[in-house]
Amino acid sequence: MRWRDLKAGELRKEHVGERMALAGWAARRRDHGGLVFIDLRDEGGLAQLVINPERAPQAAEVAHGVRNEFVIRAEGEVAARAPEAVNPSLPTGEVELQVDELEIVSRSEPLPFQVDEENVDESTRLRYRYLDLRREHMQRNLRLSATVVAAIRRYMDEHGFVDVWTPNLTKATPEGARDFLVPVRLQPGRFFALPQSPQIFKQILMVAGMGRYYQIATCFRDEDLRADRQFEFRQLDLELSFPTREDVWETLEGAVGASFEALERTPPERPFQRLTWHEAMARYGSDKPDLRFGLELHDLTEATRDSEFKVFAQAPSVQYLTVPQELSRAELGSLEELAKEWGGKGLAYLVFDEEGEVRSPIAKFLSGELIEAVRPEEPSATVLFGADEPLTVARVLSAVRNHLGHELGLIDTSRDEFLWVTDFPLFEWDEDGKRWTFSHHPFTGVRPGDEDLIESAPGRALSQAYDLVWNGWELGSGSIRIHDPVLQQRVFAAMGISNAEAEERFGFLLEVLRMGAPPHGGFAMGLERFVALLAGEQNIREVVAFPKTASGSEPLSGAPTPIAQEILAELGIQVLPETT
Ligand code: ASP
Repeated sequence: MRWRDLKAGELRKEHVGERMALAGWAARRRDHGGLVFIDLRDEGGLAQLVINPERAPQAAEVAHGVRNEFVIRAEGEVAARAPEAVNPSLPTGEVELQVDELEIVSRSEPLPFQVDEENVDESTRLRYRYLDLRREHMQRNLRLSATVVAAIRRYMDEHGFVDVWTPNLTKATPEGARDFLVPVRLQPGRFFALPQSPQIFKQILMVAGMGRYYQIATCFRDEDLRADRQFEFRQLDLELSFPTREDVWETLEGAVGASFEALERTPPERPFQRLTWHEAMARYGSDKPDLRFGLELHDLTEATRDSEFKVFAQAPSVQYLTVPQELSRAELGSLEELAKEWGGKGLAYLVFDEEGEVRSPIAKFLSGELIEAVRPEEPSATVLFGADEPLTVARVLSAVRNHLGHELGLIDTSRDEFLWVTDFPLFEWDEDGKRWTFSHHPFTGVRPGDEDLIESAPGRALSQAYDLVWNGWELGSGSIRIHDPVLQQRVFAAMGISNAEAEERFGFLLEVLRMGAPPHGGFAMGLERFVALLAGEQNIREVVAFPKTASGSEPLSGAPTPIAQEILAELGIQVLPETT
């Protein structure tokens, strides 16, 4: 016996008169006294079954016992629906199956929620993910994800990239997060780390002469979960030998384009825009600006050095942005709250009314010259100021900018803005550790000409790192790497990593770099984030089959769980009592 001759969603007018078997889930049953209608759903879509007690008394008997989400098999004849019963919103809406035989293949207990129910809370959805995944939009998201991955693989393969699998049980890779550790039974007290990325291995593959590597790699990072972050996620990870930055960018732009095309969407225009990190920070206060709207930042630091308004005069950086409308007191109040959430002390403002008159508690402290300097071209506008350390001002004004972009409907959602942000600083100051640390990872190349700054002015040294940004979301990062072991050691030293520690942690890489390392560089793009954006989802959990909750558990299986004493003992592990 065949379970089915066709997928439910494939039933069409041309099948009228044919005998067919269909199998799937009972999505809905309507009992009209005599006639019973069942919407049968499978991975192909929905088809309507009609069970007429006069035609098939036994099937009608069975139909009365069918409940939502029972698995059923129906056999019968495909018939055209009466004109008034045609459902134009369904691809199968012109036909139905006149059932002769109906079988309940598998029953379902009462459901915790209906598959078509809206607003089911997320923990329930994740606990019963297999029901949740039956929903149309989840089916669509997982299929979309598979289409994108397939397109990317095809593209990479066609462009000479070799798919190489790298270990998941390995040594710590520094990408700025904590490691997940795996104990080793055969060597108690020793641990593998799950890779935060295949970074070191892909560099080694270049030294090994692979030329072009790629992998859809799973990465593990123990960090707080957010809407766009999971403990484990996939990257399109790639590396090239002898590349220019343009070669890397071209590859990514091609892979992005191929993904759009696979989804039958117009690919974004190439080459993508580029901004240096400095320019992005100066104009948008962000290294991942959303370019679909303006509201650019302007610098006022020089102009406020002698201001009577001490908040401005004393701030290391003063910047402003102009909102093209008069904001109300309430709106300004909530923006001030937002500024504080992002670490600002407040948010000074000037409101220019229709006549160009200024309304603001700080206006009386500002010189006429300064007010004229920021006066908007059009009246009815609000100027918002940030005055603080440069990075704080940037963070606050960029948060305000993004908020207003959405709130005031300034974003043209029909646009897709892809952007390369380039020339990131090589180092970042780590306030807690009181030392310089890497801004991307420690293998990032130094911008040619900036090598001497590594020791003399680390904060000014720029790198060969770049990020890819789509509509304000960071899709991934990459760089041209350091291939000179001496330079690599100088970078380690600048971050306070002694030679001995460098040997201990990264000795295997340093050794590799000493054995004929070609210039190399690459990139990694977060796949779930990319797919989520393609699917129009805000939260990457919507495109992951079995994601973790925000607190880091997996409700379906109940992981993580405690482990029995004997097993721990075998691994040489003792769990400390909780200290809360
Ligand atoms: N390994 C880096 C990351 O995961 C990407 C790269 O530099 O290629 O962000």
